[in-house]
Amino acid sequence: MMEPTPENPVVRTVNLPSVDKILGSASGRNLVEKYGHSRVLAELRKLLAELRADALGGAVPKVATDDIPALTAAAASRLADADVSPLKCVFNLTGTVLHTNLGRALLPDVAVQAVMRAMTSPMNLEFDLETGKRGDRDDLVENLLCELTGAEAATVVNNNAAAVLLLLSTLAPERDVSEVIVSRGELVEIGGAFRIPDIMLRAGAKLREIGTTNRTHAADYANAVNPHTVLMMKVHCSNYAISGFTKSVDLEQIVALGRERGIPTAVDLGSGTLVDLSEYGLPREPTVRETVAAGADLVTFSGDKLLGGPQAGIIVGRADLIARIKRNPLKRALRVGKLTLAALEPVLALYRAPELLRDRLTTLRLLTRPREAMQRQAEEIASPLQGVLGGAYLVGTQAMLSQIGSGALPVDQLPSYGLAIRANPEQRQSNALGKLEKALRELPRPVLGRIAQDTLWLDLRCLEHGQQQEFLQQLNLLRGEAQ
Ligand SMILES: *Cc1c(COP(=O)(O)O)cnc(C)c1O
Repeated sequence: MMEPTPENPVVRTVNLPSVDKILGSASGRNLVEKYGHSRVLAELRKLLAELRADALGGAVPKVATDDIPALTAAAASRLADADVSPLKCVFNLTGTVLHTNLGRALLPDVAVQAVMRAMTSPMNLEFDLETGKRGDRDDLVENLLCELTGAEAATVVNNNAAAVLLLLSTLAPERDVSEVIVSRGELVEIGGAFRIPDIMLRAGAKLREIGTTNRTHAADYANAVNPHTVLMMKVHCSNYAISGFTKSVDLEQIVALGRERGIPTAVDLGSGTLVDLSEYGLPREPTVRETVAAGADLVTFSGDKLLGGPQAGIIVGRADLIARIKRNPLKRALRVGKLTLAALEPVLALYRAPELLRDRLTTLRLLTRPREAMQRQAEEIASPLQGVLGGAYLVGTQAMLSQIGSGALPVDQLPSYGLAIRANPEQRQSNALGKLEKALRELPRPVLGRIAQDTLWLDLRCLEHGQQQEFLQQLNLLRGEAQ
């Protein structure tokens, strides 16, 4: 064959069917029915242009260019890929039950059903069926919240960060003048950009820090009060603990001082559980009811932490203060949608039967899973997983510790069970563990564990028995992948 030269170039021709011919074929018509004409047309044009360019460049075509069913199949697969949602279900084997990055609390079935109804039917969201007049969406849950917490009134917003912002913005009306007293030991950063001093600033309140990082005394509160003081605030140490030479002031003492000086007290509980967790064998966390009973005028907490409901921020407390909060124009900007309220109401209703909560509330069920169940599961999964991974890894079953997560009880850990995977010593140099972690993350339903101490830990607390089959089925895809 002659070498191509500028005078004698190789003339390549490509034999591609026309777009119209593909669209008119049986497989083309199926595609149009599924994805619509304009989208299929655009995808086919792109595909044909690529194939033409490849062929002219001398590349081996990735699809037989004269085979219409093969061309439509290639377009179909690209269209299907583009439609895969970026929001995927994963297996949370990180050992953190309320994992903020994985969506926190899983909702119980009653909430799922209620959300489906709310999505597909009009509802009396803000409509009083008795009077036929406009209602308040908070009415749907306010009575229940009062019943469960002993508070006089309640309101719900987008999340607890919004609850704190709204509360401060309402009670500190004079920008940069109204002072809010907070102990230096409680100037929390929750994660992301939520830091108590920044929220204060945004809300317009002036932060009056008192005490030191490790010790704050009752006298510090008393000495800080002045005519500009509008609020005393206590923030729950959700994600850290100060230990050693420490002192903080009991809520009762702060409340007593506040009452004497006519200043309300607010508590940001963070997780805010509605039940005494020690009754379920879990570490104790102050309940909302106790905090209200101790005299807090306002209490804020999250809906999707220990409460086990949807993302929401709940404020309960004195009726006059809640009424002021509801009148703040920011309330309209921070209010919850109907899907949130639809989910929250049945979750709260579950708390009316505390004895049944362990079974019914998904979060509590996961937090209290018996160790034997997780151990049995680990034993069932270990050998198929070892089989798939081959000699490069050693899969063992092992006791481990889970965390509650989301700033609830940061110091306490729950005895759990799961798989501990170590790389075969010869493979250690090659980051074998990192490769396996990545391969697990790239499964159709990604499996998320955690690497620590040269071990990949898969905590089985959040793999409930009903999901084990699905978990095992996709393991085969790992064969040969991670080695
Ligand atoms: C988690 C937490 C928040 C923020 O709650 P979100 O519902 O995530 O907005 C605020 N304060 C405390 C003390 C918390 O623990």
